Amino acid sequence: MSEKRVIVAIDGPAGAGKSTLAKRVAEKLGFVYINTGAIYRAVALWALRLGVALNDMHRLEQLAKEARVAFGPPDERVFLNGEDVTDAIREVRVSEAASKVSAVPGVRRALLALQRGMAEKSSVVMEGRDIGTVVFPHAQVKIFLDADPRERARRRALELRQDGKPLDDLTLASELTRRDERDRQRKEAPLVQAPDAELVDSTGLSLEEVEQAVLRLVRSRISNGKAAAS
Ligand code: C5P
Repeated sequence: MSEKRVIVAIDGPAGAGKSTLAKRVAEKLGFVYINTGAIYRAVALWALRLGVALNDMHRLEQLAKEARVAFGPPDERVFLNGEDVTDAIREVRVSEAASKVSAVPGVRRALLALQRGMAEKSSVVMEGRDIGTVVFPHAQVKIFLDADPRERARRRALELRQDGKPLDDLTLASELTRRDERDRQRKEAPLVQAPDAELVDSTGLSLEEVEQAVLRLVRSRISNGKAAAS
């Protein structure tokens, strides 16, 4: 690892393939992989379990401040207050709740320090919606990963089927559209491509092709190249 920490920010809408890509790129570079959506999902799960109304901004902010969210071995599991919630946060009701909870400014403020702290000790590949715009506006590498909406719905359907939680196409497409609209329209840290981010459209590309394109970009952006050597 070079002395200088490197931050690779990957943002984009739901189902664009961010997680799979970010995980593989992190593995190739020897960087830590951080899925910030999981943090918002964990807070949303907690709110649902406690029966907190998703428009109760004050309570939601409090929960975000108190939540102890951590990633840990094995296999990038997600922990909320010490409990492994990796599977629970993948439910569709949690996706929907996460996009509501994440629109609350106090929640975003509370989770900002946590996200920044996660990149303090090592180089990271961090994925989300506002990594290149708000969390790390000075990230050395910024990627905005997009794909055709139908392709994104298809990928998400496949993912849910593999998880044993199939959803019909119509429900899934409307869930994705609603969530994206909410993420793009919100006032605080909306989903938007940073002016200096590289747009990668993964429609019709294989995962390997996207991965190679991103790795090339990382290598070209890191001045001495050392940090990117695998
Ligand atoms: O990435 P994922 O789909 O798991 O994220 C769930 C939700 O969390 C998103 O729809 C979005 O509302 C929110 N989110 C966010 N900012 C991030 C990551 C996720 O607002 N950096």
